[in-house]
Amino acid sequence: MQDRYGHRISYLRVSITDRCNERCTYCMPHELQEWLPREEILNFEETLRLIRIATDLGVSKVRITGGEPLTRRGVLDLIRELPKIPGLRDIGLSTNGTLLAREVEPQRTMAAALRSASVRSVNISLDTLNRNVYSEITGRDLHPQVLNGIDAAITAGFDQIKLNTVLMRGRNEDQLIPLIEFAAARNLILRFIEMMPVSTREVLGDENFISISQAKRVIESRYGSLIPEPEFRTNGPASYYQIPSRQQRIGFIGAMTNLHFCESCNKLRLTCDGKLRPCLGSYLEFDIMKPLRAGASDEELKQFFLDVVDRKPEQHDFRDNYKPGRKMVAIGG
Ligand code: SAM
Ligand code: SF4
Repeated sequence: MQDRYGHRISYLRVSITDRCNERCTYCMPHELQEWLPREEILNFEETLRLIRIATDLGVSKVRITGGEPLTRRGVLDLIRELPKIPGLRDIGLSTNGTLLAREVEPQRTMAAALRSASVRSVNISLDTLNRNVYSEITGRDLHPQVLNGIDAAITAGFDQIKLNTVLMRGRNEDQLIPLIEFAAARNLILRFIEMMPVSTREVLGDENFISISQAKRVIESRYGSLIPEPEFRTNGPASYYQIPSRQQRIGFIGAMTNLHFCESCNKLRLTCDGKLRPCLGSYLEFDIMKPLRAGASDEELKQFFLDVVDRKPEQHDFRDNYKPGRKMVAIGG
C-alpha cells in the first residue's frame, strides 16, 4: 500500500481497548471517562481479520496498543493468534507497564507470556522516577508496579524494550538526566516525546510544553553534543542519537517542532471501535466496522484499506490549530 505522497504503509497500530487503569492528564480528560459499550468494540475475530487483510496489502508490523491493552480481557488469546498471520513479521506492544509483572499463570509473568507469544518489542511509558509526580501525572499510585513491570520485561528477554517519556514543563523537566541514567543502567532505549494536542486544553498550553530542542540542550549541557544516528530507525518517526563516550542511544519524537516528522510515515491506525485513521494528527477517520459487520468480502475490505491510504494526508495538522476531537486513549497512541 502506498499513498499519493509516496508513503509506503507497512505498519499498523491496533488499539484493542479505549479503557485504561490510569488517567494520564495529557491523554485522558479529567471529566468522567465513559467507556465505549462492548458491542461497539471490535471482537478478536474481527480484529484478526482486519490485521490479516492489512498484511495481505503489505503490512508487516503490528503494534498492539490502547488505552491500556493489557487491561483487555483475553489479550493473550488475541496476541497468540498473531504469529499465525502470514506476512506478519514483527509484533510490538505499547503499555504503561503496570500489568507486565502480574502473574498470569503460576510462576509466569504477563511479560514472559507475551514474549513466548512472539511479541518482539515493548514500549513502556515512564514519565518520571518520582512516585508522587507519577501519581499526579497518571492519577494512580502505580509507580512501583511499573518499575516491577520493567524488570519483568527485561527478564522476559524481548528483542527491544523502549521507555517513552512525554515531556511536560512543571512536571518532569528535572527528570531528563535521571531517566537517562535509569535507562543506561538497564541498557534500554529511552525516547522523549513532545506533548501533542490530543487531550483537554488545560494540559496542552505553551506553559506545559517542552520542545525536543529544549530537552536536547539540557541533555547536552550534561553529556556534551549528542551524535546523530540517522541510519538507526525503529519503524517510527523518532530520531536517534548516541550519548558521547558511552554506549547509550536515546530518541526524540518531535511531532510538534520537527517539520520533517511526517516524511517517512509508514503507519495506519485501527481504533478499537473499528475506525481506520490514516494519521494520528488529523481528524480523518473511516468506519471499517460498518462494512465488516454488514458482511463485506475480503476484497471489499481490502479496497476500503486502499481508499483510506489514498486519503492519507501529506502531513499532520497538529501545528495548525488542530482541535482535539478525540482523546488519545480512544485513538491508540
Ligand atoms: N497505555 C499505553 C501507554 O501508556 O503506553 C499505550 C497507549 S498510550 C495512548 C501510547 C503512548 O501515547 C504513551 O507513550 C503515551 O505517553 C503517549 N501519549 C498519550 N497522550 C499523549 C499526548 N497528548 N502527547 C504525546 N504523547 C502522548
Ligand atoms: Fe492510559 Fe496510556 Fe493514556 Fe496513560 S497514556 S491514560 S496509561 S492509555
